[in-house]
Amino acid sequence: MKKVLKWLSDGLGFEKQSKYVNEYFFRANMRASIYMSVVVIVLEIWMIIRMTNTIFENNLQSNFKHYFEKYYINYIILLVSGVLMLLFSQRYIRGKTKNHALGQCIKWVFTFICIYFGVKISINDYAKGEQILTFLTMELFSMCLLTWKPLAAFLISGGSYLYFFLRINDMVAVNTGDQGTTIATQINFFTMWISTMMVCVANYNNTRLQAIKDENLEKINAYLSKISVEDELTGIHNMVYFRSEGAKLLNYVTTDKDNILFLFFDVENFKSYNEKYSFQAGNELLRKIAHMIEDEFEGSLVSRFSDDHFVVLTSVDGAQNKIGQLSGEIKKLQKEVHLELKCGAYKPTDDKADISQACDRARFACNSIKKHYDRTLRFYDKSLEDKFQQKQYIVNNIDTAIENGWIKVFYQPVVDTSDGSICGLEALARWQDPNYGLLPPGAFIEILEEYRQIYKLDLCMVESVCRDYRESVESGKAFVPVSLNFSRLDFELCDIVGNLCEIVEKYNVPKEFIDVEVTESALTDQQDFLPNAIKSLREMGYKVWLDDFGSGYSSLNVLKDYHFDVLKIDMKFLRGFDSNEKTRPILENIVDLTKQLSMVSLTEGVETKEQFDFLANIGCNRAQGYLFSKPLPLEELRQKIAAGKLSISKQYAK
Ligand code: C2E
Ligand code: CA
Ligand code: CA
Repeated sequence: MKKVLKWLSDGLGFEKQSKYVNEYFFRANMRASIYMSVVVIVLEIWMIIRMTNTIFENNLQSNFKHYFEKYYINYIILLVSGVLMLLFSQRYIRGKTKNHALGQCIKWVFTFICIYFGVKISINDYAKGEQILTFLTMELFSMCLLTWKPLAAFLISGGSYLYFFLRINDMVAVNTGDQGTTIATQINFFTMWISTMMVCVANYNNTRLQAIKDENLEKINAYLSKISVEDELTGIHNMVYFRSEGAKLLNYVTTDKDNILFLFFDVENFKSYNEKYSFQAGNELLRKIAHMIEDEFEGSLVSRFSDDHFVVLTSVDGAQNKIGQLSGEIKKLQKEVHLELKCGAYKPTDDKADISQACDRARFACNSIKKHYDRTLRFYDKSLEDKFQQKQYIVNNIDTAIENGWIKVFYQPVVDTSDGSICGLEALARWQDPNYGLLPPGAFIEILEEYRQIYKLDLCMVESVCRDYRESVESGKAFVPVSLNFSRLDFELCDIVGNLCEIVEKYNVPKEFIDVEVTESALTDQQDFLPNAIKSLREMGYKVWLDDFGSGYSSLNVLKDYHFDVLKIDMKFLRGFDSNEKTRPILENIVDLTKQLSMVSLTEGVETKEQFDFLANIGCNRAQGYLFSKPLPLEELRQKIAAGKLSISKQYAK
C-alpha cells in the first residue's frame, strides 16, 4: 500500500524533488518555451496580417477602432507575452540569466494568457460553428510542453475545460437553436481532457526520470573527479591536482612570478614512528601533518607528494615564518620518536617553471639537509644546482653507462679470521664516467633507487661478476664466492630472483659462488614479497646475507623473523672501538647470538690490527675492511695477491 501511494505521489508530482531535478525541470520548461513562444509569435503576426488584409480589402478602415478592441488587442497581448517569454527563455538557456523567480513569473503569465485566449477564441469560433482547435492547441502547449507538475496541470486544464464545457453548451444552443451539446459531444470533451492529462503526466514522468538519471550520472562524475584529485589517505589534494592547478597558477597573468615559492616537506624519522607505533598510528600522524600544513598554508596549493612528503606552492612573503611555525608544531607531536620537519625551497628563476622540475629541485634541497639535526629549511642555490645537474645526469644516463661498460665492479676481500686468507669478495659498484671521472656508489645508488632504476645496475653487476667468474675459470685462475648487494627495490621492480638464475645459468656459475646481501632496513618495510624471495633464494642454494646489521631500528626483530646465512655487522660498531667501552661487549654479544642462531658472523669496516685481533678473539668468523684492502678492480686485486700482500683461502686457491 505504501509503495502504491509512493508511486502515485511520485508520478503525480507530489514528491519533493532535489535541487538538481527542479533545475532540470526549469531548464526543460525554458527550452520548450522557446518553441512555444516562436509558434505563438508567428501565429499572431500571421493573424495581424490576415486581419489587416481583410480590413483593407473590404474597406473597413473606418471601423478600425472596433477591430482593434475586438481583435488587434488580443493579438498584441499574445505577441508581447510570446516575445517576453522568448527573450527570457533563450537568455536562460544561453546562461545569460539565472533568475528563476522572474522566469517562473513570465512562464505563468504567458501560460495563462495563452489559455485565456485559447478558450476565448475557440468559444468565438465555436459560436460561429467552427473548430475548437485553438483551444486544444493552447492547452497542449501549456500542459505538456511546459512540463507542469501534474497537479498544476490537472487544476489548470480541469478548470479551463470545465469553463469551456459550460460555455460551449450555451454557444451550441445559440448557434443551432437546440438545447445544447449532445451526450456524444460531452463524452468527446471528457475524453479530450483525459488525453490531455495523460500526455501531461507521461511528459512529466519522462522528464523526471531523465532528470534523476542525469543527476545520478552527475553525482558519479563528481565523485570520480573528486577522488582523481584527492589523496586517499590524507584527504588533501594529490599530485594530479597540484600539477594541473600549479600549471594554471603559473600561467595566470595576475600571478606575481617573482614571488613564487615551491616547498617540499619531509617528515624525518617518520619510518621509525611507523615501526614503533604501527601503520595505523603512522597513517593517523600523516593525516594530522597533512592538515597542519594545509592550515598553515591556507590559500596556497598544498598536496601530498608521496609517503611522508608534501609539496606546497606559495608566495615567498611570510613563507619562512610559516615553516618555522610548522616545524615547532610537529616537534610537539613526537612521543619517543624524534620527529623533525625538513623543508626544501625552490624559487623558479625564469617564467617558464616546470612543476615537476620545481618539485624535484625543492625535494633535492630538502634531501640535502636530511640528518642535519639543526636545520629545518634549505633554499635551492647554485651549489645544489650543480649537484642536481649531476643527479639528472645519472638518471638520464644509467642505460648508456650500462651499455658502454662505464659500470665497473670493484672487489673488496672478506677474510677468514682464523688465518687471514680471502674467503670471499664483496662486489661494489663504481661508475667510471667520461665527464665526472670515477664515481663512488654514494653518487648514484640513492638516486637510482629514488628513480626506481636501481635494478638495472644490480643486474649489470650480477652479469659482470658472472662474466668475471667464467673468464677466471677459463683462464685457470682462482675465484672465490662473491657477495652482491641487492636493493630492496630490486624485489619490487623486477623478478630479480628469476633474472639472477638466468644470468647464473648463462655463465654456468655454481650457486655457491654467488651470495646475496640484503640490508637490514630493507626488511623493516611491511612487504610480503621480500621474505618470499629470500626464502626461495635460499631454497635454490644461494646464500643470503644480512647487511648492515645494527644500523637500523628493529635489528633483533629482523633476526627473529627471517633466516640468513651470514650476519654482516655494521661498521658503526667499530667506529667507537677505542673511545666507547661498551662497543666490545656489544660486539661479543652479537657474535654469540649469531652462533646460537647458526649463522656465520662477519664484521665490516675493520681498519686496525687491534680490531682484527679482538674480532678473531671473540670468535667472529670473518672480517672485511681497509686493513686488508680497499675495494679494487679484479686485476689489481690479483696483482696484490700475486705480490703476496694477500692470500686466498686454501679451499679456493689454485
Ligand atoms: P655496503 O654494502 O655497506 O658496503 C661497504 C662500504 O663500506 C663500501 O663502500 C666499502 O668501500 C666501505 N668500506 C669497506 N671497508 C671499509 C673500512 O674499513 N672503512 C670504511 N670507512 N669504509 C669501508 P662503497 O663501495 O662506497 O659502497 C657504499 C654502499 O653502496 C654499499 O654499502 C652498498 O650499500 C652500496 N652499493 C655498492 N655497490 C652496490 C651495488 O652494486 N648495488 C647496490 N644495490 N648497492 C651497492
Ligand atoms: Ca654490502
Ligand atoms: Ca654493509
